[in-house]
Amino acid sequence: MLQRDKSAQLFEEAKRYFPGGVNSPVRAFKSVEGPPLFIKRGAGSYIHDEDGNSFLDFCCSWGPLILGHAHPKIISFLHETLDKGTSFGTPSVLGNQLGKLITENHRYIDQIRFVSSGTEAVMSAVRLARGVTGKDYIVKFEGCYHGHVDSLMVKAGSGLATFGTSTSAGIPKELAELTIVLPLDDDEALDACLAEHAEKIAAIIIEPVPANNGLLLQRPEFLRNLKKKCVAHGILLIFDEVISGFRVGFEGAAGLYNIQPDIITFGKIIGGGMPVGAFAGSREIMKNIAPEGNVYQAGTLSANPMAMAAGYATLKELLDSKAYPKLEKKTVSFVHQIENHIRKKGFDAGIQQLGSIFWLRFSKETIRAADQIDGSKMEIFKKIHSKLLHDNIYMGPSGYEVGFISTAHTEEDLTLAAEKICRALDEVLGQNV
Ligand SMILES: *Cc1c(COP(=O)(O)O)cnc(C)c1O
Repeated sequence: MLQRDKSAQLFEEAKRYFPGGVNSPVRAFKSVEGPPLFIKRGAGSYIHDEDGNSFLDFCCSWGPLILGHAHPKIISFLHETLDKGTSFGTPSVLGNQLGKLITENHRYIDQIRFVSSGTEAVMSAVRLARGVTGKDYIVKFEGCYHGHVDSLMVKAGSGLATFGTSTSAGIPKELAELTIVLPLDDDEALDACLAEHAEKIAAIIIEPVPANNGLLLQRPEFLRNLKKKCVAHGILLIFDEVISGFRVGFEGAAGLYNIQPDIITFGKIIGGGMPVGAFAGSREIMKNIAPEGNVYQAGTLSANPMAMAAGYATLKELLDSKAYPKLEKKTVSFVHQIENHIRKKGFDAGIQQLGSIFWLRFSKETIRAADQIDGSKMEIFKKIHSKLLHDNIYMGPSGYEVGFISTAHTEEDLTLAAEKICRALDEVLGQNV
């Protein structure tokens, strides 16, 4: 049995201080068994909890830790930076270094503005798009997450209503109605929407690699068509690359699919484990941001030295070590091992993968849109999650969360993990199917 007494006790205590005992909802383990684990330490591909258990980590702090936990180069650069002070609220050389590293190695960006979270990046990108175009409507896609931005916590209206309704209390109806929600992977729905509303739409925002509601693999043609339609109608295309940026390649999905978005948002990896986000684009677009332009945006701790140091150490190491082909190769071989087993046993399951992101689905067919996911199958994930925890493997605590592989995950880690995942699938889905 997995010893979880200390985590359970700490979680009870946390409930006194924090709503639901947490500072971000999915951490509460509502969709899986048992109390959340209180992690006290991470090293490489492993995390260690307060009860003394160790787990191979496929969550990687939800994606930022592409170099694994406590990478020596990040930690030593942070120590060096820390000794000089944590924040000055002024420009700094470290900011210049990270700005240079990114803009010189990313073909789709001339200029960037650093903020402190992915949500803030998206919020600012939406304002920028509205400011530049002078239009108010935003189009988003069902199954894409863009942080907890008011305008984007919106789902499709019921029945024939075109305009969205909010998915959270506290968002004015008038604001939600400025957002149109379309299904992914559906060129016709896009055409129908544009035929009616194109002249009011400031921007279309999409996760080009949707990875917050399963990994919804998009056809490159769908994304290219989106770009084409945006150009034709004078609508800005925002790629929300908070997960895919610096994950599926240094140039993210823009580079992978060879598509020039008007604005790209970043978070997660760009901060190397510190709170950082950013939005970026051509000089033509970015000159509209204050103080150069009239779209206001600011931040007390934006581009603080600690954040810039962790981001710089991470991105520099990714480039220097030519990490991406190796990450991809490792991930593909891990995924094949599990897929072969699934096929042999004939399970209604499969693994969707892109770069070093993977997601276990409970259907035979590839899933490209949110409504193709059968929510009732999440009971299966819950059982698998529990079995894997007992086998010292930590997955994100919901069947809608993707897994991440870091440069710290070794071949041995992954071979053993694949065996354990196959065993868990056998136990939960039945060996004699
Ligand atoms: C995580 C995420 C966000 C929000 O970033 P936070 O740093 O959690 O605010 C926005 N968009 C996408 C695609 C994300 O994955």
